[in-house]
Amino acid sequence: MAKRIPLVAGNWKMYKTPAEAGNFTRKLLEKFPENSSVEVIVCPPFPAIPAVALKLAESRIGWGAQNMHWEAEGAYTGEVSPPMLQALGCRYVILGHSERRIHFNETDEQIRKKMKAALSYGLRPIFCVGEDLATRDAGDAEFFCRHQLDAALMDLPWSNPEALVIAYEPIWAIGTGRTAEPADAVAMISQLRDRISSWHGAEFADRVRILYGGSVKPDSIASFMEEEQVDGVLVGGASLNLDSFIDLVQITAKIKATA
Ligand code: PEP
Repeated sequence: MAKRIPLVAGNWKMYKTPAEAGNFTRKLLEKFPENSSVEVIVCPPFPAIPAVALKLAESRIGWGAQNMHWEAEGAYTGEVSPPMLQALGCRYVILGHSERRIHFNETDEQIRKKMKAALSYGLRPIFCVGEDLATRDAGDAEFFCRHQLDAALMDLPWSNPEALVIAYEPIWAIGTGRTAEPADAVAMISQLRDRISSWHGAEFADRVRILYGGSVKPDSIASFMEEEQVDGVLVGGASLNLDSFIDLVQITAKIKATA
């Protein structure tokens, strides 16, 4: 079985000015555990990326964006392109987040174009799937998320399993304080991995990192990290606070090191 490097990714959403982000990042570097075996990234809002990049440039902490357009340039007022993110040193870009799907009506088709663009520009998508509560209660969660995966990724040129990360984020758990049951997250992640395996083979699928996201906090992360199938977390609220973010990294490192 492949050893997948655990990932803790902070999604800062629409929080932190460039000055606040720079300060946070300076303190994060001071407190960051030496020789951490966990990959850590933060995804600030666009205007704060340069301040964060400047601070993190010589560190092992990476950074990414929360969205992008699929075109390289053009008359798309308010949008940001893949080469622009590249120029800011972004290694990752969150795509298909439920807040983008819900509040900005992002469609599967648009997300697929973004996935394709990210892969072709060497940006690593953190591709989000997740069902709403009605879908879960109806027993359709796995079908729904598999459909999102298919819509974004089936038949896309994806030759390197490490080139993208998937995040299972049930909508009803995002920002609500309510987490999924670890067993449900494992069932979902396993079926997503099986789907990838059916396209690219088991060895490939075994190397793809799949995260859980949804109200993860220092007191709830352990139950997810103890699951072999869960390769890390995508965290919103708890990534905005320095101490809780560091705690998330340290707990992940401790559990995954002994797994
Ligand atoms: C997210 O925004 O991806 C997320 C998981 O948010 P929260 O941790 O606040 O639920």
